[in-house]
Amino acid sequence: MSIGPEELRRRTAELLAAHPPATTDRMDFLRARFDAGLAWVHFPEGLGGLDAPRALQAVVDAELTAAGAPDNDPRRIGIGLGMAAPTILRFGTEEQKQRFLKPLWTGEEVWCQLFSEPGAGSDLAALATRAVRDGDGGWTVNGQKVWTSGAHKARWAILIARTDPDAPKHRGITYFVCDMTDPGVDVRPLRQITGEAEFNEVFLGDVRIPDAHRLGEVGEGWKVAQTTLMNERVAIGGARIPREGGMIGVAAADWRERPELRTHDLHQRLLRLWVDSEVARLTGERLRQQLTQGQPGPEGSGMKLAFARLAQEISGWEVEFLGEDGLTYDDWTLRRPEGVDFTGREAGYRYLRAKGNSIEGGTSEVLLNIVAERVLGLPSEPRTDKDVAWKDLPR
Ligand SMILES: Cc1cc2nc3c(=O)[nH]c(=O)nc-3n(C[C@H](O)[C@H](O)[C@H](O)COP(=O)(O)OP(=O)(O)OC[C@H]3O[C@@H](n4cnc5c(N)ncnc54)[C@H](O)[C@@H]3O)c2cc1C
Repeated sequence: MSIGPEELRRRTAELLAAHPPATTDRMDFLRARFDAGLAWVHFPEGLGGLDAPRALQAVVDAELTAAGAPDNDPRRIGIGLGMAAPTILRFGTEEQKQRFLKPLWTGEEVWCQLFSEPGAGSDLAALATRAVRDGDGGWTVNGQKVWTSGAHKARWAILIARTDPDAPKHRGITYFVCDMTDPGVDVRPLRQITGEAEFNEVFLGDVRIPDAHRLGEVGEGWKVAQTTLMNERVAIGGARIPREGGMIGVAAADWRERPELRTHDLHQRLLRLWVDSEVARLTGERLRQQLTQGQPGPEGSGMKLAFARLAQEISGWEVEFLGEDGLTYDDWTLRRPEGVDFTGREAGYRYLRAKGNSIEGGTSEVLLNIVAERVLGLPSEPRTDKDVAWKDLPR
């Protein structure tokens, strides 16, 4: 029988007694929490979990928050937590799980995602980065990736590369873990519309990857990548937030604090956005309940779509409501931020940053295709390149 809420409360109290947050070093506390199986309770024992139902993580989190325990700052290590971890858990060898999951969860090792390329974004399976077997049974990788969030602070990357150009594009791809400290990895900042450089171009020149860092079978990388992408959409669109916790909370606060700026039209639009945000929030709760049954399905794409649309509409509303104040920008210096701060910055920042929401993690147009085909079962787009060898595709 799986572990219940009372037992989790007992174990959390035991952790807090052995490592009082007020006197324990942050990282020591996080390591102890992982070892106690209270990091992600639904993970297996020995890997930071207790094989408990996923929904019970909330019980542990509430106890730890009430006790003032440090957290692992999920915003800073979102790619590791949201995307690399579920993929390693599902496709990794025992050795890979033991090696990667603990420092990933504590944040001692940050991860990034080397998927997109200049010629392969929405059509990700068109990617051209090559991985070729070298004499030692490992792989040598050459190519270019782009829009790589957090590559400048990452220790590891999840990487997909082409290992068989003779196979059709979806079947010649293999999934690897790439060491970002390899001398062949060249990370260059790309400045965004916000003025910041959250992401980078990454050039891979003769990067050596041992075969022990392959995830899944050779040529099966597309299947492995699907797990990452499904989880990515939930990670972006499905974060647990309290009522008025996200951007709508900031807009509602503006409305309450600035009565002199109110108009009837803006009032109507704010109410509609508030209701839409609440619907999206509660749908997210339902999605999380579904998740307790296993891996996320294509429904996560719907959540990500709703999140992107709302973020853009609410941030647009706020700029309009604030008038000139909405156009001021707090800081235009080139920065390399630790994460995205949607609620702590100026309205102008929110407005500009929200533009990327409908692109990152899959564009809204492509997610609409996924919802149409895989949730609603509508006829799919014609795919003429499905059975053609990748090397014969026009580029
Ligand atoms: C802030 C940000 C962070 C990112 N971080 C990462 C990261 O860490 N790692 C990573 O690998 N990538 C990252 N990306 C890249 C992102 O995943 C890609 O930009 C995205 O998949 C779109 O690909 P593209 O830019 O090549 O656009 P394209 O694929 O060229 O799309 C251009 C336009 O055509 C539309 N389109 C394309 N195909 C179809 C179709 N079949 N039907 C209808 N419309 C279509 C698209 O929707 C879009 O409007 C990030 C992007 C952003 C903006």
